[in-house]
Amino acid sequence: MQILKKFADSKTAQIGIIVALGLSGVVLGYHQYDKARKSSLIVTQNPPVSQNEFEQNRFLTQAGAIQRWGQIVQGSISYKVDLLLKGGESYSGLVTLDFEAKHTLTDLYVDFRGKKVVKLVVNGNKINNLDWNGLFIKVPKEYLSTSQKNRVNIQFDQNYAKDGCGLHGFIDKDGKQYLYSQCESYFTNRFFPCMDQPDLKAQLRFTAVCPKEWVVISNENADQNGQFNYAQATNIIKAYQPEEFIESQLQNLENSDSYNFWVFGETKILPTYLFALVAGEYWSIKFQGEVGDVPQTIYCRESLKEHMMNLQDFIFEVTKKSMKFYEDFFGVKYQFNKYDSLFVNEYNWGAMENPGCVTFNDFYVFKEKKPATSYTQFANTITHEMAHHWFGDYVTMKWWNDLWLNESYADFISHFCLENIQIESIKLSNIPVMFNQRKGWGYREDQMVTTHPIAGDVINTEVAENIFDGITYSKGASVMKQLMCIMGAAKFGEACGNYFRKFGWKNAVLQDLIDHLQEKFDNPEFTLSQWKQQWIETAGMNEIEPQWDQTDRTHQAKLTIYQRPALSQFSTLRIHKIKIGLFHDNGIDSIDAVLKATEENVITYDGSKGYRAILLNYEDQSFVKVLLDQESTKYFSQNLQAVNDVLTRTLIYRALFDSVRDGKICSEEYVDFLLNQLPRENSDEILNSQLMFLQAAIGSMTPRRFKKTLGKRVFAFLLEQLVKVSKDPQLENRMILLRNNLTSFAYDNSCIDELLAWFQGQNQELSQIECTKDNKWAIVKLVYASQKYDENSDLRKEILQKMLQLDTSDAASRAQLRCQALIANEQERAALWQKFIDPNDKESVKMMQESMAGFNNERRYLSLEPYQDKFFEVIIQIFQTKSNDFSKTFYDYLFPITDDLASLCNKIEKLRAAVPQNLITLKIQVDKSLDTIKRQVKQFECFCNQAKLATQQQVQEKDV
Ligand SMILES: [Zn+2]
Repeated sequence: MQILKKFADSKTAQIGIIVALGLSGVVLGYHQYDKARKSSLIVTQNPPVSQNEFEQNRFLTQAGAIQRWGQIVQGSISYKVDLLLKGGESYSGLVTLDFEAKHTLTDLYVDFRGKKVVKLVVNGNKINNLDWNGLFIKVPKEYLSTSQKNRVNIQFDQNYAKDGCGLHGFIDKDGKQYLYSQCESYFTNRFFPCMDQPDLKAQLRFTAVCPKEWVVISNENADQNGQFNYAQATNIIKAYQPEEFIESQLQNLENSDSYNFWVFGETKILPTYLFALVAGEYWSIKFQGEVGDVPQTIYCRESLKEHMMNLQDFIFEVTKKSMKFYEDFFGVKYQFNKYDSLFVNEYNWGAMENPGCVTFNDFYVFKEKKPATSYTQFANTITHEMAHHWFGDYVTMKWWNDLWLNESYADFISHFCLENIQIESIKLSNIPVMFNQRKGWGYREDQMVTTHPIAGDVINTEVAENIFDGITYSKGASVMKQLMCIMGAAKFGEACGNYFRKFGWKNAVLQDLIDHLQEKFDNPEFTLSQWKQQWIETAGMNEIEPQWDQTDRTHQAKLTIYQRPALSQFSTLRIHKIKIGLFHDNGIDSIDAVLKATEENVITYDGSKGYRAILLNYEDQSFVKVLLDQESTKYFSQNLQAVNDVLTRTLIYRALFDSVRDGKICSEEYVDFLLNQLPRENSDEILNSQLMFLQAAIGSMTPRRFKKTLGKRVFAFLLEQLVKVSKDPQLENRMILLRNNLTSFAYDNSCIDELLAWFQGQNQELSQIECTKDNKWAIVKLVYASQKYDENSDLRKEILQKMLQLDTSDAASRAQLRCQALIANEQERAALWQKFIDPNDKESVKMMQESMAGFNNERRYLSLEPYQDKFFEVIIQIFQTKSNDFSKTFYDYLFPITDDLASLCNKIEKLRAAVPQNLITLKIQVDKSLDTIKRQVKQFECFCNQAKLATQQQVQEKDV
């Protein structure tokens, strides 16, 4: 699964993704698990008496999963799932679960978080006193058998999900309905009843009754392309479902001629989180490949068809080439029968690796030309999901504590793959630079108190939901890059190949992989078990700082590298294999070094060359925070453009940005430095990343009353550059980057006025630059947000109407919701708040999110205050009563925005003390907010002490 690239610093500071586990015992966690796994084998003779794991918990616990694993014969499970998908708001289904039991000493539990369990039949016996607590359906042990295969039939009803978890339903503006399933991490049980844990792998066969206009896509191909009639389909289902079940399921089917009956082939043996079904009036296009190619089809909503036509060649090309690359690199063939790419709406993720049925966020179906970095990120999402067809789909983690085996690997190897294949249909960006940008996510999260080991303790599936984060993805990927650097690419690939061959279609744990890598690792200094302890099983990161004497011109000059923990409470030091860049006036020399896990490492170099600056972790092989010494900082700030290598400049820019994040340099100094550098910067990748850093520096590291002035400086710079580059068609990519960033810095009304004039075709300066639909929507939102236009509601209405005529897509509906919320009066705000705390589940979370973003907007600061305390009053109840995905949206989008950080800290501390132990997700959110706000306090203090603006400018509150 891939998360849409998050750059949390750039949004309001509070928005971020999660994390945090109690750290005590984390290192032990794995070993406990390992022991527990062994003990679960013993369970077969001596089962536990207590069944509390299933009766009292809100989520599946690891202990419950181990207990259940001990009841079932591995490899004996199969499902048949017969769905009646009539459209509308709900659906129903029949599940047939077959398995062999190792014992019948305890009841068995089947997970289902749905609307209704209609009937339960166990080995032909109808269970009258149905025991279902809203999560687990009890299958009484009396009805189970060890002497023959067991069969459990369950009839159920369920609503289509509105939060993207389970079987999500969406109706497009043209009235066409689209469904897709999203089962990872713990959501298959919201789709249909099953034993929802990754080590109870099974084969599954779907059938589906759907309106004639729909297509249905799943992991495997459909027999006869869905053209069965009623009689044929019921004959197939009768073989395993009680007849009365079928009748009650199909009795409401008024006119069976209006439906198609789809029967799919049985899947390979898969964990439950990979079963997938997509249905609706999807438009599709097939890949016209060569003989022997794995068949590929792209699906998207009908309304996106024209945009997809522009992208299909690119998608097919990246898909085909990355599949071939992995096959060659691992020496293991692609294991599935087809590779469909389905673009779905209201999606929470970048994409999901359902084998053969990969779902992508249709955000990627770009409606207008984007900068090269966007296509590169898209390509990387494709290669990421493709990699999962080996890591995750073919060999699966045993439990969620090894999620990194999926995500860290996929995130790393996807970049490695892109670096090694040639994409011809679209020009991509510099991959190592893109990788470094993504590393920022890991650096940020690993410097929060909520950080955790890459492979840690995951006590239940709620914790599992929360570890899809910057540690598992970005840090994990960086650590894999370091590992490949230590081992060499060829040996790394061979070891992975052996691991796949051994564990194909099975489950694996951390040590299994390490053992295979160790076989190919030959280094007398340390073993991979030592390495894994430092890097995989221990939280936190290190910083390294050089100390050297620039005047030492001897051949044996000394460079001391100091290594420290970035956060004192995570004190582990690590082995780092790095390169050291030594800069002189005519170029760069580099030396290789393996730093020991000690505070000081001394390196000898030839000082006679008269080096002017030093950069540690040159070429970016390790995951480490690099500090610059004073001499080097001075040199780089004066000679940055003389450094030819783009990745090297990226690393230097990052080191400077880190200083702003750490509250050592104020955002004003950083803004001024960049505005001086960027006109000479020829890399679009760097321009892109620095514009994101600038958004973060102004958006969350600058006190609110100074944002207008700083924003205006950047805005003026962008305008000037834009006019300059727009004259040269060769610089189109740069033009798009500059143009699309204009609205992000329009804090000041004068900037909004200029943008509005551009929208209306009255801006002379920008007359040659196209104002695209996306640009126009961003401007409309600014005009709605700005208090200046409160007096001019006719103008607001006029531009909104214009856009609604121009854009008939669902994006227009979302923008309209945001605009309405931005200008809501007191009474309307009260009604909106009521809707947020008591949502109607007919509205999707993504739509609700737009209203929330308008409701709680920094630019409408004066209207926010009344709801700040209300947020703290309701938040616990929200997490107790609503789904985690809704609750997290509520938290992120409605978190108080205030200048009074001290009082906010107090309120968060109080909330923290009140959060019940079992609300793990909320606890993590709260800890992260606290960390972010404390960091912000430092950044603001730094600003007030250092910024010229803070000392010179008298800011009157009315201007704010
Ligand atoms: Zn993934």
